[in-house]
Amino acid sequence: MSAVILDGKKTAEEIKRELTGQVAKLSNKPGLGTLLVGSDPGSVSYVAGKHRDCADVGMKSIRIDLPETASKQDVLAAIKELNSSPEVTGYIVQLPLPGKMDSREILQAIDPAKDADGLHPENLGKLVMNVAGHFDSPLPCTPAGIVELLRRYQVSLAGAEVAIIGRGLTVGRPLGLLLSSKQVDATPVLLHSASKHIEEHVRRADIVVAAVGQPGFVRKDWIKPGAAVLDVGITRRANELVGDVDPTVVEVAGYFAPNPGGVGPMTRAMLMTNVVKLATKIS
Ligand code: NAP
Repeated sequence: MSAVILDGKKTAEEIKRELTGQVAKLSNKPGLGTLLVGSDPGSVSYVAGKHRDCADVGMKSIRIDLPETASKQDVLAAIKELNSSPEVTGYIVQLPLPGKMDSREILQAIDPAKDADGLHPENLGKLVMNVAGHFDSPLPCTPAGIVELLRRYQVSLAGAEVAIIGRGLTVGRPLGLLLSSKQVDATPVLLHSASKHIEEHVRRADIVVAAVGQPGFVRKDWIKPGAAVLDVGITRRANELVGDVDPTVVEVAGYFAPNPGGVGPMTRAMLMTNVVKLATKIS
């Protein structure tokens, strides 16, 4: 048996085509802003990709790049500019921030109505409060991309047991909230570095999401035959990106989102989706 590949690249292209049609109907073209601090190669490449996506769907993009040496005050001043700019419908602060800068304090300064990543505490709070799951606030992009990818491949989510490995802010923690909303109705188990018997949880799971950042963490013999496995964690090695899942899981899984090419492009597509939704609210 070989798993059906959850092709995030192809699915993201479909979503971008849909968004292009929606953007064309808006009288005011939406604009995505990015704030990049420093020159981490991964971050530089992600930001460039987001600007290419904007051009593809007919959106404006606004870019502020600050040097590695920028102070907290410099970053907050840039955020103030993005909050007040009429060109900017929504924006992101590219994480991680360099040095010891506290990303929580920076994220809190974002106007929640322009929070394209859905990571402002007000929007995360709405994700917690809205058990019914009819969200009108921006959702964190990677969790939303994971759910959308599974839905488009008709992987059954209602009642599914989902092992999420990693409780980070951008993936595991908000994904558990989204999956347990009534609109999705899955049963997530959130695993982390202090969890016991991780592989036993994974063996029972219908869906496995690995968001740890350790190459090959999830092994083929952990996977229940037919389960859906999504490789989200990223480790940069020389010139390649390596995921958390041993790629031989394709031999036992029913569905497999590889890394790269699975959840990454979906994250970007959900960012565009959030901005178009924000623009539709305004117009
Ligand atoms: P993060 O803040 O990097 O946290 C990593 C998580 O992994 C933590 O919860 C940590 O547990 C857990 N962990 C570390 N070692 C472990 C172990 N041995 N056993 C079990 N759990 C362990 O999380 P993040 O920001 O959510 O990102 C997670 C990964 O996804 C990163 O590699 C990131 O680069 C990647 N990512 C990918 C995309 C994409 O679009 N593909 C988007 C965002 C992030 P503790 O909390 O106990 O320390």
